[in-house]
Amino acid sequence: MLEVVIQIYAFLLGASLASFLVVVGERGYKKLSINGRSKCICGRQLTWWENIPIISYLILKGVARCCKSKIPKYYLITEISLASTWLLAANLPQKAGLVIIVVATLLTPLNAYRVAKARSRFEEKIYQQVGSVVNDNDLSSEQISENSE
Ligand SMILES: [Zn+2]
Repeated sequence: MLEVVIQIYAFLLGASLASFLVVVGERGYKKLSINGRSKCICGRQLTWWENIPIISYLILKGVARCCKSKIPKYYLITEISLASTWLLAANLPQKAGLVIIVVATLLTPLNAYRVAKARSRFEEKIYQQVGSVVNDNDLSSEQISENSE
C-alpha cells in the first residue's frame, strides 16, 4: 500500500515540478520574474483549476477558456514526461532513481528556455514575413496609383 502511495506521490510531484520548471525556463528566457500567477496569452490571469498539471490541459482540451487560443502541447508533454520519469525513478534502486530524477529535473527548465527561444525566433520570422508582404502590397498599390495617373 505504501509503495502505491509513494508512486502516486512521485508522479504528482514530477508533474507539478514540470509545470513550475517550464514557467522558470520560459520566464527566464523572457527575463521576467517567476513571481506572480500564470496568465493566458490574452493577458487574463488563470484560475487555480486552469493551472493543474496535465488535468487542466485535458479538461480544456488544449484550448484557452477565454480567447480560445491553443495551449502548447509542449506543456502537457513535459508534465507527463517528468511525472513518468519520477514514477520510474520511484521504482528503481535509490541511487539510479536519484540520478535520473536530478538529471531530468535539471533538464526541464533548460529545455523550456530553449523552446521559448525557438518559439520567439519563429514568431519574429512570421512578423517579418507578414511585414514584408504588407510593404509589398503598399508598394504595389502606390505603383498602381502612379500608373493610373
Ligand atoms: Zn486567453
